Amino acid sequence: MSVLVVGSVAFDSLETPVGQVDRTLGGAATYFSVAASFFSSVKLVGVVGDDFGDSDAAIFNGRRIDVQGLERAPGKTFFWAGRYTDSLNERVTLATELNVFADFNPKLPASYRDCPYVFLANIQPSLQLSVLQQMRRRPRLVALDTMNYWIERTPEELRRTLREIDVLVINDSEARQLAGEHNLLKAAARIFTMGPQLLVVKRGEYGALLMRRDSMFSVPAFPLEEVHDPTGAGDSFAGGFMGYLASAKRIHDGTLRRAMVYGSVLGSFVVERFGLERLRTLTRPEINKRARQFLRLTRFKL
Ligand code: AMP
Repeated sequence: MSVLVVGSVAFDSLETPVGQVDRTLGGAATYFSVAASFFSSVKLVGVVGDDFGDSDAAIFNGRRIDVQGLERAPGKTFFWAGRYTDSLNERVTLATELNVFADFNPKLPASYRDCPYVFLANIQPSLQLSVLQQMRRRPRLVALDTMNYWIERTPEELRRTLREIDVLVINDSEARQLAGEHNLLKAAARIFTMGPQLLVVKRGEYGALLMRRDSMFSVPAFPLEEVHDPTGAGDSFAGGFMGYLASAKRIHDGTLRRAMVYGSVLGSFVVERFGLERLRTLTRPEINKRARQFLRLTRFKL
């Protein structure tokens, strides 16, 4: 089973208390694709400029990532710069240069239009909707990520898009903002009236919560001695979550819980190094080993 992802492929400049890197490969769709490809095949939709070379594209080679839908446009690739505070819990955006992303209008190759799993990474809600409208049939599962920028600037477009999805994957602060409600349980109840039946709340170093109308599941973040760079943790979480679900035969409580753990596993690896560095060398046995560590970390008897 394949997962289709639409989102940014970018160059990022990153500053964290541990160091900094300039113009390293990044983007939500890049992190998501690499993370998900450990579990299932991926179909990538995005755009890059003519400064995106073969050595940049090499991250997709040798993995189950179809890049037929990665358009090349004249101009520069999307650029983002960010700085993290000492606690690594907050980040400041220093620059967002949309470049070729400004005129991006996703077009799905014919071979993408039957994909059963879809992840709409954080882009303009109307573009997320246009991807769904190009599908030949309703996918089995559609997940969406968004951010404060779209919640504030395009609330109507976002509401329209939320009606068409199954899973909303967002940060706790964004969940509160979207619902206009500080209490997470009340915020979730309000979000369930907007379309999604499942809410995945990412809580950084505090882990993630899977919320449904009648149940909840909580997964911790893996305790690490050294965190170098939180960039891409959310998208790698989503990649592990969706990639695992696409590889499972059925979606039920057990597979959703395991998907949360695999999401947390992928998120925990990516923060160990800058940018995509850790995902480049990551192996499936390392993923399995950390998933077993999660089991030991959380298992108890009553
Ligand atoms: P995350 O840390 O998982 O939330 O995502 C980090 C990635 O999101 C970076 O690699 C950026 O290139 C990308 N990014 C940052 N701002 C935006 C934006 N406004 N639209 C799309 N992608 C973005």
